[in-house]
This record gives sequence, C-alpha cells and structure tokens, in this order.
Amino acid sequence: MSDLDSDFDEEECNTEMEEIDCQFANNTNFNICIKVDDLDKVIMDNKVIIKCDFDCYCYSDNPRTSEYFICKKEKNITNRDLINCLIENKFDTQCNHCFLEKFEIISPTEVTPWFGS
Ligand SMILES: [Zn+2]
Repeated sequence: MSDLDSDFDEEECNTEMEEIDCQFANNTNFNICIKVDDLDKVIMDNKVIIKCDFDCYCYSDNPRTSEYFICKKEKNITNRDLINCLIENKFDTQCNHCFLEKFEIISPTEVTPWFGS
C-alpha cells in the first residue's frame, strides 16, 4: 500500500483541479485540491459534523467563530459528500487559505477541512 498523500505535487494538483472544477462547477468560494481518485473515498458512516476552524494567521487580529455543518446520508459519506455539503452551505474561508487539501477526522463524529494557501 503506497501513501501518495505524503509526496504532494503542486503541478499534479493543478491538472487535477481542472477536472475537479468541472465536477463542482457551482463552487466558486474555494479551490478543491483533493485528488480525483480520493473523491469517493469513504470518510464516515452516515452522519458527520464538519467543524470549520478559522485559526490561521489571517484571523489573528480579527478572530472568526468556528462554523459547523451537518452532513447526513444513508451510509458511506465520502469526500465528495463533504465537499458538496460545504458548497451547499456556501462555505467561504474569506481569507488567503482557500485551497481545500483534505478532510481530517478529529473525533468519531467530526471532521475538519484543511485549507492551504
Ligand atoms: Zn487564512
């Protein structure tokens, strides 16, 4: 089993982003940098809270409260479902960090999106 996440390649991401842009055409608030192959990777069972923290330097002088979104499905919540949930809720980091790199599982019921710049 290889761990492709560890050697993150920016150029590869750019190519993938075009493909991703087509798949999430109605998303304009953030850039999705998750690999196409990982979109249908199952992250959680049937319900998950997406916890969005704004703890980057952009908000150091002007703190922003964390936001929570609930993503529900009969079973097998994937990266794609989580992304669609953020899009449906018109999620916007409104800062320099608008490149969604991954969702990290932070508890049995919660994930958090990782945004880079
Ligand atoms: Zn930021």
